[in-house]
Amino acid sequence: MANENKLQAIIGHCKEYGFIFQSSEIYDGLSAVYDYGQYGAELKKNIRDYWWRSMTQMQDNIVGIDAAIFMHPTVWKASGHVDNFSDPMIDNKDSQKRYRVDHLIEGYVETLDKEKGDAILHQMELLLEANDFAGLKQLIEDHKISCAISGTCNWTDVRQFNLMFSTEMGSVADEANVVYLRPETAQGIFVNFLNVQKTGRMKIPFGIAQTGKAFRNEIVARGFIFRMREFEQMEMQFFVKPGTQKEWYEYWKETRMKWHLSLGIAADKYKFHDHVKLAHYADMACDIEYDFPMGFKEVEGVHSRTDFDLKQHQQFSGKKLTYFDTEINQHYVPYVIETSIGLDRTVMMILSEAYVEEDLSTEEKQDSRVVLKFPPMLAPIKLAVLPLTKKDGLPELARELINECKTQFRCFYEEKDSIGKRYRRMDALGTPFCVTIDHQTKEDGTVTIRYRDTMLQERIALADVKKLVMEKVEMFK
Ligand code: ATP
Repeated sequence: MANENKLQAIIGHCKEYGFIFQSSEIYDGLSAVYDYGQYGAELKKNIRDYWWRSMTQMQDNIVGIDAAIFMHPTVWKASGHVDNFSDPMIDNKDSQKRYRVDHLIEGYVETLDKEKGDAILHQMELLLEANDFAGLKQLIEDHKISCAISGTCNWTDVRQFNLMFSTEMGSVADEANVVYLRPETAQGIFVNFLNVQKTGRMKIPFGIAQTGKAFRNEIVARGFIFRMREFEQMEMQFFVKPGTQKEWYEYWKETRMKWHLSLGIAADKYKFHDHVKLAHYADMACDIEYDFPMGFKEVEGVHSRTDFDLKQHQQFSGKKLTYFDTEINQHYVPYVIETSIGLDRTVMMILSEAYVEEDLSTEEKQDSRVVLKFPPMLAPIKLAVLPLTKKDGLPELARELINECKTQFRCFYEEKDSIGKRYRRMDALGTPFCVTIDHQTKEDGTVTIRYRDTMLQERIALADVKKLVMEKVEMFK
């Protein structure tokens, strides 16, 4: 399937089957804001749980916190977000449409052959690195890059635009009360560094993880849930001894890539992309890119953030944020390696990977199915229990099985429609196992279990269903 079509098919499927809706849809939606429906919310929660447990439960030296979205406004001055969290933008004077300069140029490059395109991207990266705004405008004009709406090249100068949302706290609207909606979760970890270290008696190297909402007033919001204005991040800051950051950076690059591969995604669907233009806080940084329907794009960042954030907070708060290392009898401000992954982008990655349209036609008849081949541990529903008929005690047996299993994993009961139709609906929701209860079940205590990916069916003992599903949906073996 062509990639653009695949993205459209996924968006349509997500809406039709209760995964993802546009926010405030009855009011024609709010741009780049989305709501998760009943199955999307389960999928997202399972991904979040898998990340959380991989980072905390499976590691001896990482703990999780849950910091507030609102933080003291000085946090964002110290972190550099008030002054630096901006992207170079350009407006088309005819359409009034604003573009992120890098996105505008990248969009143009997609229409060129590879060699030409790469040369322009290289030039763009050098100009971005040098903050050369006049040069960027010149590049756009030299290549006659036009606005998709007006079709003209009538551009303003390139300017910086801050991506933070602000609001007011309290009832008096003066400047002292301006607070920001956090644009990243990381700062909640930095300001709690000593609280956690002291109360948890943490010894360096150690990490603090958290998941939560972040907000960015993205200018060009596109690609469904790839780029949203309200989204969720899963971040971990790993505090290390100064001078050891290089080895920990490599360690976390490798460990995070292993996590991605543990989702059952092939290695050639990922690549590392080293940053050319480093953020103001970083001394090494890379993205883990996944081959989305729109091409290879960032899903996660691994950043060596030096001691920038803790030192800044020390300076702005006037409070010491040092660690006493008993092994070398010294106080120091730790260095930090950060892993930062977007939960919504991961949902999109899992959906892109799972969505398959299969042609099942035979010589006799045409047939097809849409199936979401989620890893069983992430599937919103793990087991569907389907009584063959609505009578003869079959629904009661089905309910009994659900009652036995539902303390351990999510089950689904369905008695309407033919068995074939019910299987197809479960395929479309990504349910890995369906069990059919029929008259034979009453006689010999066996059921038909049907596997989503292979569509194979076999008879097993009713008493074995729970154990079989539990083994397959376990997160860690
Ligand atoms: P991009 O270059 O795509 O804007 P970024 O480099 O600004 O991303 P980071 O600040 O490193 O992103 O944020 C870490 C992660 O948060 C990203 O890898 C991505 O998965 C996620 N993320 C960032 N911005 C958004 C957004 N607007 N919508 C959804 N997820 C996002």
